[in-house]
Amino acid sequence: MDGRIPPLGPGNLEDFTATSREFTWASVDREFAWSAGGSYNVAAEAIDRHAQNWRRNKIALYSVQAGGEVRKLTFGEMAELTGRFASGLERLGAVKGDRVFVYLDRKPELYIAIVGIAKMGGIAGPLFSALGPEAFKDRALDCGASIIVTSPYLYRRLEPVLDDLVNVKRFIIVGDDEGLDGRTVRFDEVLESGDPGYQAVNMAPTDPYIIHYTSGSTGKPKGVLLGHRAMIQQLMGCRYVADLREDDTYWCTADPGWVTGTSVGIFGPWYLGTSLVSYEGRFDARVWYSIIERFKVNVWFTAPTALRMLMRAGNDVVKEYDLSGLRHVCSAGEPLNPEVVRWGLDVLGRRIHDNWWQTETGAPCISNFRCMDIKPGSMGRPIPGVVAAIVDENGLEVAPGTFGFLALRPGWPSMMIGIWRNTPKFKEYFDVPGWYISGDQAYRDEDGYFWFLGRADDVIKTSGERLGPFEVESALIEHPAVAEAGVIGKPDELRGEIVKAFITLRPGVVPSERLKAEITVFVKTRLAYYAYPREIEFVETLPKTRSGKIMRRVLKAMETGQPPGDLTMLDE
Ligand code: ATP
Ligand code: MG
Repeated sequence: MDGRIPPLGPGNLEDFTATSREFTWASVDREFAWSAGGSYNVAAEAIDRHAQNWRRNKIALYSVQAGGEVRKLTFGEMAELTGRFASGLERLGAVKGDRVFVYLDRKPELYIAIVGIAKMGGIAGPLFSALGPEAFKDRALDCGASIIVTSPYLYRRLEPVLDDLVNVKRFIIVGDDEGLDGRTVRFDEVLESGDPGYQAVNMAPTDPYIIHYTSGSTGKPKGVLLGHRAMIQQLMGCRYVADLREDDTYWCTADPGWVTGTSVGIFGPWYLGTSLVSYEGRFDARVWYSIIERFKVNVWFTAPTALRMLMRAGNDVVKEYDLSGLRHVCSAGEPLNPEVVRWGLDVLGRRIHDNWWQTETGAPCISNFRCMDIKPGSMGRPIPGVVAAIVDENGLEVAPGTFGFLALRPGWPSMMIGIWRNTPKFKEYFDVPGWYISGDQAYRDEDGYFWFLGRADDVIKTSGERLGPFEVESALIEHPAVAEAGVIGKPDELRGEIVKAFITLRPGVVPSERLKAEITVFVKTRLAYYAYPREIEFVETLPKTRSGKIMRRVLKAMETGQPPGDLTMLDE
């Protein structure tokens, strides 16, 4: 295939084929303190272990506040603060297995709370601070959260639903809790009451440390439980996928409310003893570039939506900043359009390493690696230790180039251990014997690279062909007038479905029928004859989840007049 981007040379992963052949998960065990008799606990490995060696005074976290002020915490300080928080929680009556929600902006307390909860054997439930009260309530009632860590303004936002939160015993408030109701206690008081030398509770590998609600792209968000054992794959994901080394400065832009924000945003890098940068504020191209410059970020983990926004901000903006420290760039969460990969190369001067995984997989499973060619538009190959395949409905592997279900061989270390109070849903993933069925459709090429087509529900059946929306969207955004595109199958008597595209235009572009015709011709010359959109609609914005993913089911519902389903995850 043309358009390949050659390898950057060996990274932490030197030889994909040889390592994939020889690798065993057991070989990673000895990197953890538990293998030498320590507690089996993600908090002990992410923080306490480092506080007991020369990394004690190393910065664990640079927390950039919305106003630009920076708060720094060392591994030693983190160990004491998370210990205090863990034992303070116990004093409030929390016990192993309790669900404790963390509903905060990206401040140091967010990190202290998540790790502290895991340390005492609790299940942390990080919730993105942009969620509204109804979305919060759904989740709190679903898993019966008993303690909520939040801030005064977010607490006030919850006021309309406070009476409904019947399981909640305490709100721990970061800041001043004056004037809030009797169920509150200040975060600082909890810390003061706690023991800085608290030892992490010894857990079983399959005990959960976190509950993450999925993004809600396809339906009602599911409460996915990840076990302490996930640490094994999160460490390897950071090492091989993010090419992270311990002396790097690392910035993952995902909010800890999503799996990316904790698996490769907090725990994975801390297992490696890396310094993290976190940014509290909203997206702003100049601020983002300036963070990379100011902290000399070496490894940057972000998402397609963010990259498309940076593209939209213009190519000249990049030139104002010194990004020379940046060694490695990753993207996950949504398909990464080839156009964005090429922009990365031309404008950022970096390869962008797309990788595929899900809340349910707990860590990266398929990825592009430094030592491999990138084929723009492909998610790459399975990480060593993960067996991925394209199968049909009977679990039989299909030939290269054939569409099918993207499946994994169960048993990778970070695989979810359950879905909160929904065993039938959990079992559905394993309906096809021998496989975990991801719900995504894809194909594998002759070289073993995986190519994403779409969610199983989003795949378009037109004129007897099956077509993934991603391919059409990627062709559309290559047109200079197009900023973003969402593509669906619209029911059609003759063709089964026709391809319909919803398009947002770049700033300053005037919509017209002529432009529609021009875009149609543009796509026709790039894709199979049946793949061009027979209908185009210009829209101001595309419906997205709070985590920034295009919600095609909402577009489809708008088009067909069907009920759109659960909308608590719709952004705005
Ligand atoms: P829900 O499960 O609630 O419908 P969701 O699937 O969007 O929401 P997540 O677990 O956050 O929730 O996202 C996982 C999904 O994101 C994958 O199943 C896949 O569809 C998509 N995805 C993630 N990374 C990639 C990638 N690199 N390329 C293509 N798609 C990706
Ligand atoms: Mg999903």
